[in-house]
Amino acid sequence: MDFNITLLPGDGIGPEVVSEAVRVLDVIASKFGHTFNFQERLMGGCSIDKYGQSITEETLADCKASDAVLLGAVGGPKWDDPNAKDRPERGLLALRKGLGVFANLRPVKVHPVLMDASPLKPEKLEGVDILVVRELTGGLYFGQPKLREMQNGKERAVDTLEYFDYEIKRVVELAFTLAKSRKKKVTSVDKANILESSRMWRQIATQIGTGNPDVELEHMLVDTASMRLITAPVSMDVVVTENMFGDILTDEASVLAGSMGMLPSASLGESGVGLYEPIHGSAPDIAGSGIANPIGTILSSALMLRHSLKLESEASAIEKAVHQTVTDGARTADIGGKLSTRQMTDEIIINL
Ligand code: NAD
Repeated sequence: MDFNITLLPGDGIGPEVVSEAVRVLDVIASKFGHTFNFQERLMGGCSIDKYGQSITEETLADCKASDAVLLGAVGGPKWDDPNAKDRPERGLLALRKGLGVFANLRPVKVHPVLMDASPLKPEKLEGVDILVVRELTGGLYFGQPKLREMQNGKERAVDTLEYFDYEIKRVVELAFTLAKSRKKKVTSVDKANILESSRMWRQIATQIGTGNPDVELEHMLVDTASMRLITAPVSMDVVVTENMFGDILTDEASVLAGSMGMLPSASLGESGVGLYEPIHGSAPDIAGSGIANPIGTILSSALMLRHSLKLESEASAIEKAVHQTVTDGARTADIGGKLSTRQMTDEIIINL
């Protein structure tokens, strides 16, 4: 089969890890008889440098016209000026909004041989397999007004946490659907003791729970959830939550897996074009040194094969190869080894 994939390598280690995922996808293409047509575009800081904006209309249109988008990471100190007209992250938010990808799926599995790479005790990590479903196009990151202004001689900044009922409904429903092929348990995370938007979130989640009696629903305050993630992570399965809560909790959850570099994500919506990216950022501290862990991006490409291209066997072939490679002892620096980005991918390709 023929597929069109837009690559947005971005900044920092983004291009380093995306090119490794492309090598893996090329192997899949020849092994399974597919054609992946890659088109590369600029997004983030590199796009600001070239076009003066973090994402152009043309790039967004190209993404929308493709079967899926594979992204590296954006940002870095070069574009950190708080007074800048545009920022790399703005391109990312515009891309998510433009593609309508309202749900970000972040699976967190702890590989048995990597338990030592996590600061948590191994007995806490045994059997951890969590899927965080983060709402991605609403909430605090998008709500209006969002502003800074002078008021009576004092400077004021405002962000708005806003949700419409349909935005909550569609992401919680997706969480329930995903839970059905897992352990049939959903933890809905909110701050219903303080926030009005969370009270609506909880009410809608309860209604959806009533309609899905085969799935156990538990409500949890975000502060409790942040503790539970490290004190009893094995008690969690599907976790669904608001945009900013999800952003923070997923970084915390990445610690369970030993390194940010290990974890993939898939962002899905109604338009059908999925966005796939590792959960880590552009890692400016190691960019250019060829030591970034490519696994998060390679596993993101597996999610792309599964969710957007409907190539389940191909997706699981990549996942098995990664699992085997790590089991065999291959390690980049972040997980206690010496392999370069390229050498790690070479090992994965051998196992493919
Ligand atoms: P980061 O995820 O880039 O890095 C955090 C730490 O993890 C660093 O020590 C880094 O070296 C390490 N790390 C990350 N990915 C790794 C990998 N694949 N292999 C080995 N080590 C890895 O987060 P940060 O340092 O807070 O942010 C750096 C920049 O990235 C900022 O400009 C930030 O805005 C941006 N950012 C972008 C995204 C995105 O593009 N989705 C997400 C988060 C942060």
